[in-house]
Amino acid sequence: MATRARAAGVRLRPHAKTHQSATLAGWFHDHGARGITVSSTAMAEAFAAHGWTDITIAFPVQPRDLEAIDALARRVQLGVLVDALPAVEALAARDAARLRVWIKVDVGYHRCGVPHDDASGLAALARAIDAAPHLELAGLLTHAGHSYAATGAEAIRAVHRESSARLRAAAGRLHACGFDDLAVSVGDTPTCSIARDFDGIDEIRPGNFVFHDLMQVAIGSCSAADIGVALACPVVGVYPGRGEIVVHGGAVHLGKESLPDADGRPTYGCLIDLAAEGLGALRDECVVTALSQEHGVVRVPPARLRGLRIGDLVAIAPVHACLTCDLHDGYTTFDGTTIERLHGGRWR
Ligand code: PLP
Repeated sequence: MATRARAAGVRLRPHAKTHQSATLAGWFHDHGARGITVSSTAMAEAFAAHGWTDITIAFPVQPRDLEAIDALARRVQLGVLVDALPAVEALAARDAARLRVWIKVDVGYHRCGVPHDDASGLAALARAIDAAPHLELAGLLTHAGHSYAATGAEAIRAVHRESSARLRAAAGRLHACGFDDLAVSVGDTPTCSIARDFDGIDEIRPGNFVFHDLMQVAIGSCSAADIGVALACPVVGVYPGRGEIVVHGGAVHLGKESLPDADGRPTYGCLIDLAAEGLGALRDECVVTALSQEHGVVRVPPARLRGLRIGDLVAIAPVHACLTCDLHDGYTTFDGTTIERLHGGRWR
């Protein structure tokens, strides 16, 4: 992603919410990233404590976060997001350290953000930010999360083209009101993985790509070989009559995001080979068909089932790595190194 960003002439500000690891963030720093994206003040505090000095909290500001935001803004260059006047008013009312404020724009995902074509709404927010001495209008920021509903590279590229054009047009509307030099920031793994043309974009903030997952493979933003994380689960039951194994790996370990199988039934993960040097082939024929709190039921064809014993370790590729990783407090690499991760806002 760093190479891709350099080639496209955009800054990479990777989102840390997927890995939530100081060590992994350090790998991005090694590849040239100097800014980081997070999704909470707790995460911002944790990465500030690890030396990151340029942090964007890519989550809408709400008044309960103001004290933490003030404290952070005194220590690091902090960026925050707003999409409504009350949030700007709450920030403006405080006599605090300098803050970079991004206007969150809705380019089609319809989660948060000022609608991209709401010229008066964009201008009202820009003026309110500009009027507060300690607030700096950083620019326009979006997350085109509707790229996750696209399937295939061309559909993902189409979302990227449309959302970039909408964002550039929104910047043009503010330019017409006298707001120049606004930065434009986008970020979602599907479009950042597929698109080549980032014309008019200054910064990208993908996060999931650090590991990818089955969902990214299904929509075509990566290949199975790109999956970089799996849940290691002990086999606790082998049932040849049912063509299934049961693993100690349930909803509390994997999460409950699902993908449909060929018959439209939900699947919650898929076996992936554990080779000596790393994760191997994805075993599409071995899918998790049911989850309870601690148990996972995996459908396994007879030939593979014959080689499995209670106590074996199998690896399950997650449907959505961000949510699966969030259920754990660390990673183990193939050379046995443990890598820390935030858990409940603390390093474990
Ligand atoms: N920026 C924002 C505001 C987000 O909400 C997210 C993800 O939810 C990202 C960036 C990263 O996107 P992805 O998880 O697709 O990499």
